Amino acid sequence: ASTVIPRWFWMRTYNKTMSSTVILLNEQNPQGIFVDPSVPLISVDDQGFTRGDGVFETMLSVNRRVRKLGMHLSRLESSARMLDLPDPEPEILRSAVERLMREATAGAETALGEEHIVKIIISRGPTQTVTSMQPGPYTLIMASPVPASIVKRRTEGVKAMLLPRGHEPMDNSAYPWLLAGAKTLSYAVNMAVLRYVQERGADDAIFITDERRVLEGATSSVLVAKIEDGKKMLYTPEPSHGILPGTTQGAVFEAARQAGWELGFGPLYPQDLFESDGVWLASSVRLIAPVTHLNGTALAHDPELTATLLNYLAQQS
Ligand code: PLP
Repeated sequence: ASTVIPRWFWMRTYNKTMSSTVILLNEQNPQGIFVDPSVPLISVDDQGFTRGDGVFETMLSVNRRVRKLGMHLSRLESSARMLDLPDPEPEILRSAVERLMREATAGAETALGEEHIVKIIISRGPTQTVTSMQPGPYTLIMASPVPASIVKRRTEGVKAMLLPRGHEPMDNSAYPWLLAGAKTLSYAVNMAVLRYVQERGADDAIFITDERRVLEGATSSVLVAKIEDGKKMLYTPEPSHGILPGTTQGAVFEAARQAGWELGFGPLYPQDLFESDGVWLASSVRLIAPVTHLNGTALAHDPELTATLLNYLAQQS
């Protein structure tokens, strides 16, 4: 708590120079307090840091309004429950997010407006074995400008590689300690797979099982379009089957359903992707990025279809 500084000081000193804006919620500051992102904040015995023991959400804010906030807060709640972390209080988080966005330093100016990445992190916190920091869970909420590299993929697309994730993750669902479907801070595997594909000339990965069933991207859901005799069909791997249920996929599907698309949650195999009329990686900040190449093979890629799906997302709050 020694790093918490008065808000007036933060406003005057840091607002103009810092690119991130951060609010901390803990036992002493249950409603949240602005903290200086340039000074150390995490204790060395913090279990979120030492073990990845915590949960998070990454969200997109456009013109200082966080999109799909309700969906993110409910997934955060379900992740926190799976890890036996205290239930996040949605109303407190909502108002902290609003305060954060009012005070956030400038975002990125894009075709959509002013864009920020907003993260909520809940860590199990310090253990008090190493330092005298207050033990127990805390929440950080932070906003920073969306990097241009992410924005450009919405139109330019990505080259992806299919990579095995080993065993069938659906099997994990039977074992609560395997945390299937929780968005935990343990993302080292997701980052390792990105480095692996990037060293081989691709941008992103799509995980498959040993039986070659398509799962999800490294940090995204997979969407597949098929258009036959004027019938428009949109597919995604069944979200409850051991993968993260994506809020972006959920939002696109809801809008597509209203626009008359047929929706499918079937098992998908690489062949379905190669024979489709479009494949996209969907996640909150990237929105949707068309997969232009899969394992080096060019995929069908219709910029108009991408624009249609992006438009569905833009209409959603
Ligand atoms: N799957 C994984 C593994 C992810 O990390 C993410 C987002 O980070 C997603 C799917 C997409 O989730 P959302 O659309 O809610 O951002």
